[in-house]
Amino acid sequence: MTAQPALDRASGPSRDALSVLHSVFGLPGFRGAQGEIIRHVTEGGNCLVLMPTGGGKSLCYQLPSLLREGCGIVVSPLIALMRDQVAGLIEAGVNAAALNSSLTYEEASDIERRLLAGDLDLLYVAPERLVTPRCLSLLARAKVALFAIDEAHCVSQWGHDFRPEYVGLSIIAERFPDVPRIALTATADEMTRKEIVARLQLTGAPQFVSSFDRPNIRYEIVDKQNATTQLKNFIKERHAGDAGVVYCLSRAKVEDVAAALSEAGIPALPYHAGLDAGVRARHQDRFLNEDGIVIVATVAFGMGIDKPDVRFVAHLDLPKSIEAYYQETGRAGRDGKPSTAWMAYGLSDIVQQRRMIDESTGSDAFKRVSVGKLDALVALAETVHCRRQRLLGYFGETRAEESCGNCDNCLTPPKMRDGKVLAQKLLSCVYRTGQRFGAMHLIDVLVGRLTEKVTQFGHDKLSVFGIGRELNEKQWRTVLRQLVAMGHLRADSDAFGALVLTDSARGVLKGETAVMLREQPEGARNRAVRGKSRRGELAPAADSPGGVANPALHAALRAWRSDVARQRGVPAYVVLHDSTIDGIAAMRPDTLGELRNIAGIGDKKLEHYGDELLRIVKSTDG
Ligand code: ADP
Ligand code: ZN
Repeated sequence: MTAQPALDRASGPSRDALSVLHSVFGLPGFRGAQGEIIRHVTEGGNCLVLMPTGGGKSLCYQLPSLLREGCGIVVSPLIALMRDQVAGLIEAGVNAAALNSSLTYEEASDIERRLLAGDLDLLYVAPERLVTPRCLSLLARAKVALFAIDEAHCVSQWGHDFRPEYVGLSIIAERFPDVPRIALTATADEMTRKEIVARLQLTGAPQFVSSFDRPNIRYEIVDKQNATTQLKNFIKERHAGDAGVVYCLSRAKVEDVAAALSEAGIPALPYHAGLDAGVRARHQDRFLNEDGIVIVATVAFGMGIDKPDVRFVAHLDLPKSIEAYYQETGRAGRDGKPSTAWMAYGLSDIVQQRRMIDESTGSDAFKRVSVGKLDALVALAETVHCRRQRLLGYFGETRAEESCGNCDNCLTPPKMRDGKVLAQKLLSCVYRTGQRFGAMHLIDVLVGRLTEKVTQFGHDKLSVFGIGRELNEKQWRTVLRQLVAMGHLRADSDAFGALVLTDSARGVLKGETAVMLREQPEGARNRAVRGKSRRGELAPAADSPGGVANPALHAALRAWRSDVARQRGVPAYVVLHDSTIDGIAAMRPDTLGELRNIAGIGDKKLEHYGDELLRIVKSTDG
């Protein structure tokens, strides 16, 4: 345990945080706890910051780095993230650089020289590099303003993003006890939070916990039938022309889905660890720099992707935990505009994830934790109540309102029905057939289908044969899935996919346990959630681009931005954010002073682009 470091006030004349926010970043004020965090760190305090994606974590260490003497060292796990952040900072006139494995020896030496000469405000460093003796000795000779440990949950061995190289970061506190440490993450359940505090020696340091709500994200979880077709419809009906990320579990599926989308006229690109590094980089660049690209990826993609205008995140397979789901869906709508988190989920997902856990080489304790996390996610998928409420509840946040008005369950509340008899029929069928068969065969028996397998095992002679004709195969699948989710049935991982009864099934069979089932509305739910939400705002149906002010000017500004981005080789949002483009189009500024008042226009951007932007405004009608 370390004591709080002594207050280490910047010795030079401290520029006021608000004026730096205004002049460098072009922003009028702080958001949420930013101001408080920035003051605390600037005064030399350690802290842990928990803020959702898009909440504004970067400013929490960028501003103190500018306000304190010396250079802020930012530990960040991904080169892509570093590159984009550094590009954005340089655009804003900040002396920023990154040290990572993509540099040549000369480039790295030059950055080291600038650090020692005091010419850098911010330096991003990969964790494995930071802990090398060479880098530690370099930092010991430099003036370090602070250490920011971004994506701090990567230290957690229980977490979904564990990175062994993060464990070594405990050396920061040992070697630089007097330099403030700020750890930041968008994912932290209680257990992860404790691990961060222990590993980074933040005992006693304040924890700034923001609301994790992402009100602009609409959560939707649909029953998986033909996932690829459902996805195509979802994109075409709701997000035509939008940028999005589609997550799949396997590389093969990534390729298949990307091909299917492309065939359907949706510009989709695959991304997974099996692709050549050059191809991966090219696909990522196109996703960042062009409008409306859909990337189909394994979870290898996304951490460190700062693209603010991702309009949807779709899951075709179940993630491992609510943390993973929340982090992945959180990549949608960083800019605060309406976005959708869509997932198709079915029985096979639960079975598959369970098998992966059972077959993993982890300890029993690890498997137990993993099963608990999977169960929590399945419960979210099955709930008939507000999904946002559930999600936030998982992170320990309670809300006064019961209904958020912006998730599928709130917008079209699912119907519930008494499922006791259906459950009994299904569980009896599992029992009578000897607890050795998977979903397909069980359903064949229930609906009385004379397949080869049914006759082979003589299951047409059983009392349960044909007792379930009131439902079709699709409906039985959802009943089955819900019984697995409720824990009355379990997929036996020893006998591939076989469903077996659990202890709690007995209560259902005896009629002692009530079973309420969710009725799946016929047809896709895609359509059901369109239209007005309860609060009356229009649903973010992407087929209406959301009524921008002065569309011709808007289009002209975007075209100009694309050109500039291409010439400079940076993502479009590094030049100007969408919200800044919206602001200029809406305000039609006549003078540099008016332009300067639009959020996102700092001194450097005004200097570089001001005249050009005014010229575009003047020359474009409407
Ligand atoms: P995080 O790292 O928490 O995901 P970022 O730091 O990337 O979030 O910020 C998300 C977005 O919010 C960025 O576009 C950023 O410019 C914007 N933002 C952050 N703080 C403010 C603020 N005080 N006022 C306006 N916009 C802000
Ligand atoms: Zn809701």
